[in-house]
Amino acid sequence: MAIPQHFIQELLARADAVEIVGRYVQLKKTGANFSGLCPFHSEKSPSFTVSPSKQFYHCFGCGKNGNAIGFLMDHTGAGFVEVVHDLAQQYGMQVPEDDRSPAERARAAEDTEKRATLSSVLAQAAEAYRKHLRQSQRAIDYMKKRGLSGRVARDFGLGYAPEGWRALASVFADYTDPLLQESGLVIVSEDDEDKRYDRFRDRIMFPIRSVKGEVIGFGGRVLGDEKPKYLNSPETPVFHKGRELYGLFEARQALREHGYALVTEGYMDVVALAQLGFANAVATLGTACTPDHVQKLFRFTDSVVFSFDGDSAGRRAAHKALEAALPFATDVRSVKFLFLPPEHDPDSFIRAEGPDAFAEAVKQAVPLSRFLLEVASEEVELATAEGRAHFAAKARPLWQLLPAGALAQQLLGDIAEQVQLGVHELQALWGLRTAAAKRGPSRENHPGSYGQPPAPQGQAQRPRLAPFRPPTIGAARRVQPASRAARALQIVMTEPAAWEALSAADHQLLCDLPSPHGPLFTWLDGQFLDFGSQPWSALREALRGHEFEAVAVAEVNKVPPEIESDPAELRNILNLEKRARHAAAMQRAAEAGDIDRLQRLLRENSENADTDSGEAA
Ligand SMILES: [Zn+2]
Repeated sequence: MAIPQHFIQELLARADAVEIVGRYVQLKKTGANFSGLCPFHSEKSPSFTVSPSKQFYHCFGCGKNGNAIGFLMDHTGAGFVEVVHDLAQQYGMQVPEDDRSPAERARAAEDTEKRATLSSVLAQAAEAYRKHLRQSQRAIDYMKKRGLSGRVARDFGLGYAPEGWRALASVFADYTDPLLQESGLVIVSEDDEDKRYDRFRDRIMFPIRSVKGEVIGFGGRVLGDEKPKYLNSPETPVFHKGRELYGLFEARQALREHGYALVTEGYMDVVALAQLGFANAVATLGTACTPDHVQKLFRFTDSVVFSFDGDSAGRRAAHKALEAALPFATDVRSVKFLFLPPEHDPDSFIRAEGPDAFAEAVKQAVPLSRFLLEVASEEVELATAEGRAHFAAKARPLWQLLPAGALAQQLLGDIAEQVQLGVHELQALWGLRTAAAKRGPSRENHPGSYGQPPAPQGQAQRPRLAPFRPPTIGAARRVQPASRAARALQIVMTEPAAWEALSAADHQLLCDLPSPHGPLFTWLDGQFLDFGSQPWSALREALRGHEFEAVAVAEVNKVPPEIESDPAELRNILNLEKRARHAAAMQRAAEAGDIDRLQRLLRENSENADTDSGEAA
């Protein structure tokens, strides 16, 4: 499946991020950059910028950022491979597949075809179920009893799987087609290959759609009290319960309108909520909420509210959701937990109390930070030292799942307070370095991460995600006095022409710098020889796996988007560096009593002063 990295680089060098973002966002030139209203959060004044030189976009409001490929993935919900293929086609480039054997390629092509075929089989079944619903008075009565309108049934493509063992035999010409089994529609008896029957019988059918709208599976609910009440499609090549959310495709528009996603426990909740004016609801599919679910949701909204029944099963599900959500709870996102009274689900709550009361309950939902503390203090006696120690031990693994940032920092303070320790003492106890050191931008938290899943949970020692710090304009101007080497790195990484403008001697000087900067300049020199001038987005791709990838990315991320890197500044830095070295050499010569060398250095100094005095300062 791997697309060679060099191709991604070439593609990013060719594709213009301004043009691509401009297809979806109205952009205006403002200084060196372009700006517009952020498509990822709702805003009235533009805080979304695209930098033509970096080929990166960045939103000061919600923190979204990345390159052209990342933008298309986030904005269209398409996958990495799909976006690369689309873009390549637009720019007349052929995606190479050279690192796969013919057998692998054939298998991949087969997989793609298989998925398309399975989806079309499932779509045919969905259509048949829809027709059956219109013909079954019993099913219609059931829907009416649940208060569902024809309109909501249509929006969600609801259907009915009739009674009888082989209803689908009248839909598909060949009932023995293996695809029917593979798609999960038909069950083949283990003892007798000839015994086949429909999986879904006498059930209200909820087609489960991918974010692109393809039918990938079904949920079926009985009309009465039979067991099992809910039945889902099995795992198939197109359907993975741990990744799919029921109703996400249907909710996309409403997510923007309401500004948050409401995660409920079942499809009936989702449909009923849509009926009652909360079309922003989604549901997991009979599984606990996973990090994949949360990550997927955060592609469509910045705010997630989990709704649970107030019983102990609901509490357990909430714990799972907390663990799944913690790694994604950056400072620009919101995660809350809504516990309804035990006698209610969202549907019955709204019918009993009204939509306004429900909206109010959502507003009052428990924030993630408070819920984390609640979970850690469950069954703990905070009045005793032992209990408080127990609390700290329970809070630690949860806290460690949080990405670094202001939220994590404050929670650390809250936990310390509960344990009756100072923050520093707690840090020492947990083996954390000081906050500032731990929270250094050790790793980027975004660009081009292409929706890769986060590191698996439960590995407390995994590298922390770096904090995203939206640089305010004022603070940005006071760029920390980066070392000369670091600033030079920022410039040559973000301004491709700057490297070209340097002499070979200057290249050498930079390449000879100590690690990590020297090796990074050496690497860049090689890149330049192989690919010529490339924008940062392409360099960033090429850096993947490099020993100092994190250093380079962190340095570039420090450069605020509105600051243009200037090749003249680089020359200036180099002159300062040369002078500093010269001064150090003179000092060494003086200390060693090497008068000859000192005189030679002094001569050089006055010669250099003639050539670079105009540029320095
Ligand atoms: Zn934004």
